[in-house]
Amino acid sequence: MKNVVLLGPPGAGKGTVASRLVQAFGFLHVSTGDMLREEVAKGTPLGELARGYMARGELVPDEVILSLVQQRVDAQKGVLFDGFPRTVAQAEGLERFTTVDVVVFLEVDREEVVRRLSSRRICEKCGAVYNLVTQPPKEPGKCDRCGGALLQREDDKPEVVARRFEVYMRDSAPLVAYYEGRGLLRRVRADRAPEEVFRAVAEVLR
Ligand code: AMP
Repeated sequence: MKNVVLLGPPGAGKGTVASRLVQAFGFLHVSTGDMLREEVAKGTPLGELARGYMARGELVPDEVILSLVQQRVDAQKGVLFDGFPRTVAQAEGLERFTTVDVVVFLEVDREEVVRRLSSRRICEKCGAVYNLVTQPPKEPGKCDRCGGALLQREDDKPEVVARRFEVYMRDSAPLVAYYEGRGLLRRVRADRAPEEVFRAVAEVLR
């Protein structure tokens, strides 16, 4: 089984397509954003360290991220990396402990990303993701799956979204050329319905 990296700006739909890929193909899902949010929620030392960076929309330092990921995946196959690597240094670090077979770049423009993130809501209990415009819950403010309350992520507020996008352009966008140079990059248009994006990505992975 392949090791796959999902690349793309915040709001490209990495998490959404990742959960469908996990269901369809049985990948080990490694989302550094989810892992960090868990550490923050549990109040661990790592969570305490990460909290400030995340609230500002900055990246958590590479060494911290690399040790977190390495503990989870050492030499495993069939890993789906979501939101990692986010810098060239992280990509180089990743190559030291496992291989990358294909990188799927979800392409979507800045306007669409801002629109999506401002209407994104997350269930505080089970983490299910909604969009008030395109995928609203049946009952306002309430999760369809578990009845939990739907909240906006602190870092989905407009000021932080702008910062996250700048950081993406500066630190993460160079990964497109990095992986293109290695012949691993496959581009998928992500300005479409989740189902269509999933189908296009599944096609690339077959
Ligand atoms: P995400 O859920 O992927 O949007 O990540 C939320 C936040 O967690 C980011 O804005 C960063 O502060 C932090 N984060 C997640 N993944 C990484 C990573 N690979 N490197 C550095 N910071 C990360």
